[in-house]
Amino acid sequence: MQLFWLRTDLRTHDNTALNAAMKQGPTVAAFMISPEQWRRHDEASCKVDFWLRNLAVLKDSLKALNIPLLIVNADTWDKAPQALLELCQTHGIEHVHVNEEYGVNEEKRDKAVEAMLDKHGIGFDRYLDQLLFKPGSVLTKSGNYFKVYTQFRKVCYERLHHSIPPVARLHKPQAAVRIKSDDIPKQVKGFTQPSEALRNRWPAGEDEARKRLAQFTDDQVHHYEDERDFPARPGTSQLSAYLAAGVVSARQCLHAALSSNNGEFETGNVGAVTWINELLWREFYKHVLVGFPRVSRHRAFRPETEALKWRHAPKDLQAWQEGRTGLPIVDAAMRQLLETGWMHNRLRMITAMFLTKNLLIDWREGERFFMQHLIDGDLAANNGGWQWSSSTGTDSSPYFRIFNPISQSERFDPQGVFIKQWVPELSELNKRDIHDPSALSGLFGVEGYPSPIVDLKASRERALAAFKSLPHRHAEALDHE
Ligand code: FAD
Repeated sequence: MQLFWLRTDLRTHDNTALNAAMKQGPTVAAFMISPEQWRRHDEASCKVDFWLRNLAVLKDSLKALNIPLLIVNADTWDKAPQALLELCQTHGIEHVHVNEEYGVNEEKRDKAVEAMLDKHGIGFDRYLDQLLFKPGSVLTKSGNYFKVYTQFRKVCYERLHHSIPPVARLHKPQAAVRIKSDDIPKQVKGFTQPSEALRNRWPAGEDEARKRLAQFTDDQVHHYEDERDFPARPGTSQLSAYLAAGVVSARQCLHAALSSNNGEFETGNVGAVTWINELLWREFYKHVLVGFPRVSRHRAFRPETEALKWRHAPKDLQAWQEGRTGLPIVDAAMRQLLETGWMHNRLRMITAMFLTKNLLIDWREGERFFMQHLIDGDLAANNGGWQWSSSTGTDSSPYFRIFNPISQSERFDPQGVFIKQWVPELSELNKRDIHDPSALSGLFGVEGYPSPIVDLKASRERALAAFKSLPHRHAEALDHE
């Protein structure tokens, strides 16, 4: 008997480990519930709920293949080897198949599981599935991981010119096996249930993911280049939650984008090319996570920035978290996150820069808060995004480029449509005043809406001074940490 251990690959189509297991023989699937480990990783309640909802749908798709789905409990990953061994022994499993996951703890868990199973004569195979390219296979001429995205992308393009990773066909159903599926829990201890509105926004299942992908690549992708920066428009695919949980594969996304662009990825429709570049950003940050494990341990990629004197300002942090900073675009964005579990990419950059530059609060506070609330929370992309915004990371925004949230707002939400949706206190303001109600004449601005918690000009100067005072150290010293 073969075991397909599901993790962040919650789909049956184009699933490398599932196909490998079924090729070798009768297969059962299992998913591990690890509440304390998830808590330590700051997994959002809405994300855990999304996993459970997807598992419930997946159970039926697996049933159609005659594959039972079992639940294994291991509160923390140090208990994973024993829990999996027991499962294997109960069901006479000879071989376990998994798709690789990246990150220090994931790697440690898999090595420990492999060693334990090996002692008992059970095989353990890992496959590349989450990414198009295996981390460690896209390197500089001197054999190092790339630190600059455009150089990384160039090599990816060269590889794609040679061959495009194929999408695998779904395996035929196997003969029925005599193992009964477990019930999928509706909730996990310590994680609250999200609102129905949030759930309805992110329906579970691969059919939904494939539908979104098809709708996006059939139509919206052609306007992606022009519309992707405007949060009031449905300009992006909103596939990140599905990609993060593996409900759709990066290969499926790549193929759909290519077929919308006559098979071309560097030329042709500029929207499709830009979108493929975003898939490669996803790829890049995962490679960075593996190549520079310190970022997986919440260390700054640029070591000299570890000396930055971040402010301890719990009240400011709380105002940012609750969407009460007095800067409408920042508040609208934070409220979107709290209500939907998702935030538009342009707004992720604006809110992250505001926290780390204007409020001079440590990027790790923002990284953690995002992770605790994002339905698409992904260690590599989230860390990459935060370190880019705070100028502490690879290929990051230079420290002197500080977004002004008011001009960003005027540029990317010119009519104030997005702000009005999330900050109804400001719905009466016209498109000129809405970006900065504190500039309105009268002492108190808009009733019920706070004055800005920080002066943008002075706080910008403060951030520049803090970055300028940093000593220069070289990242190379830490490259092998
Ligand atoms: P689309 O524009 O349709 O892009 C398609 C896919 O490409 C996305 O679904 C995503 O998987 C990938 N992608 C796009 N942009 C990026 C990027 N900059 N970095 C890495 N992958 C990218 N993305 C996450 O998936 N999880 C996170 O936890 C996360 N945290 C972020 C934190 C900050 C501070 C910033 C600035 C960005 C973060 N991103 C994160 C990247 C990006 O904001 C989201 O991937 C994007 O907003 C998701 O919306 P979409 O699916 O409509 O994207």
